[in-house]
Formats: sequence, C-alpha cells, structure tokens
Amino acid sequence: MPSDAPADDLGAAAGCIRPPSVENTVEDVSPPDRLMRAMGPMVPSTAVVTDLHAHTNRSDGSHPPAELVDIAAAREVALLAVTDHDTLAGVDEALARGRATGVRVIPGIELSIRVPHGSMHLLGYFIDPAPMPLVGMIAGFAATRTERAEEMVERLRGLGVPLDWQDVLDGAAGAPLGRPHIAEALIRAGHVSTRKEAFDLYLADGGPAYPGSDGLDAEEGVRLVLESGGAPVLAHPETLKLNDAHLDPFVGRLARAGLVGIEVHRPEHTPDQFARFGALARRWDLIASGGSDYHRPTSAHHAGATGDPPLPADTADRLLAAVLR
Ligand SMILES: [Zn+2]
Ligand SMILES: [Zn+2]
Repeated sequence: MPSDAPADDLGAAAGCIRPPSVENTVEDVSPPDRLMRAMGPMVPSTAVVTDLHAHTNRSDGSHPPAELVDIAAAREVALLAVTDHDTLAGVDEALARGRATGVRVIPGIELSIRVPHGSMHLLGYFIDPAPMPLVGMIAGFAATRTERAEEMVERLRGLGVPLDWQDVLDGAAGAPLGRPHIAEALIRAGHVSTRKEAFDLYLADGGPAYPGSDGLDAEEGVRLVLESGGAPVLAHPETLKLNDAHLDPFVGRLARAGLVGIEVHRPEHTPDQFARFGALARRWDLIASGGSDYHRPTSAHHAGATGDPPLPADTADRLLAAVLR
C-alpha cells in the first residue's frame, strides 16, 4: 500500500493510530513509522483491554518479557506497555513476542525521580529502542543504582544484618539494582520473612538502611523523555505523599514542562483517589492514563487489571498523538 493510501478499516476506527506503510524500507521511514512497525499489526482501538504499566524480570518483575506478553495475551490484553524500572532491556524481546502473539506492545520505561519526600516514578511511552539521550542516561542510572545498593548493604551490615553482596547480584540477575532486590536477599538470608517486613524495618523511605533517592529531578525527567521521543506520564501520584494543596501546583509545574499524562486508572485506586487524580488530569489537560503495574503472579491483581473503571481503550492512541503533535 502506498504511504499516502487511506488507513484500512482497523486504522480508520475512531482515534486509532494510523498503521505504518508496509512498503517503505527501513532506511526511508521516519522514526515514528519505524516504531509503528516494531509495535506490530494494528488492533481496533475500541473494546480492547489496555494495560500501560507492567514489569518484567529485566527490572523487578518475575516474568521474562516474552512470558509477560503471553500472560497478557491469555488475559485478552490487546495493548501492553512494558515499563521496567530505569531500563529498556526487556523491550526488544517483548516487541518480538507481541508481533508473534498479536499483542501490541508499547515500548516504555519507568524512571526513578528524585523528590524531596515520598517517591516519584515517571513513565515514558513509545520510546524507540534506537540510540537517543535516554540510552546514555540508562548506563548512568545502572551505575548509580549499584552504588546505592552497595550503600544499603553497608548500612545493613552496620545494623547487624549482614548480606552477601554476590547473593544480591545473583538475585537481581543483571536487572538494575533496587530496594526489592535487597529485600529478597534479606528474606533469603533469613533476616526477615516478607518484603513488607524488609521495608518496614530497614528499606522504607526514611528507613535506617535507605540512603534516599538519587537521580533526575522531576522536570529533567520529563524533558529527557520528551527529548527521547517519548510521552511522559506521572505514575501512581499517591506515592508523592502530597496533599491537594501541594500536589496540584507540583503537577502543574510538570504539565508546563511537557508532562502529557497522569495515572488515574490503577487497580488499587479507591473511588476517592480515582476522582481526585481524574480532577487533576482535567485541570492540567493531562491524559488520564494507568495500568496494572503487574510484577508477579503473587500480586493481588493481574496483568490487564486497571481498576474500576478500566483504562479507556483509546488512551495509548491519545498518548501517541501527544508525542507526534
Ligand atoms: Zn512505580
Ligand atoms: Zn511500576
């Protein structure tokens, strides 16, 4: 089909992403077209299960990327964003499996952001796996995360809770190191029996073994995602632990920096949180996004579960439109 041909029936569905031209060579397609092709065949943008937040074992999830896609397929998820912490390492495998199974995989990332209190994660969508500013930053993130993990192990030793550094590394299996890996090592060493206990005793924000967050500040993070061709979305706003009087201007600042969305649809959100974050989205003209934040089968919820009401099927289209604008 020539590149200026009308979109096919699926592509013509309201709000649907236009499919890529299939005859162009790799060399002469624009980065968005290349990305469209990597994400695979179109699916109707109505009446599909959309999940824009999920993790693989390339960060702190338990499933290899291909397995995550299979699980999503079994749950009738048609659009799945893979959003590992500070890494794109699972994206290629997930994209390939998505093309094989008919799940449209959206390449994404979840960046750790430095905030004065609480914690902040910033999602970035449609990040093309090609070289870009973000890829250079990721190498730096990995080094910083390793240093922070070493500091946590050092602090734990000082608290009389020794861990074997090699066991921490083996448990992470090459993923960017984070508090969950330290928590798992504490369980394996018999110091605690659950992740929650590890966080409550040692690793929570302000806990005796946690050196505090590091990395990008919030506006830098938004800019980095934009410069990498991605759509920046504020994840789980509740972890910022700001009341409305402080959360509203903070989100406003990010919106002015180019934030395009905020997570409103999450399985753990109460009706009150849904209303509160939905109002923020409307006020700052942000797309109400969301996802399951699925990590592993023991979670209380599963891949594709995005709360009540579920994530609207055109959310990914709207995020992509915001990037291409
Ligand atoms: Zn998060
Ligand atoms: Zn997450």
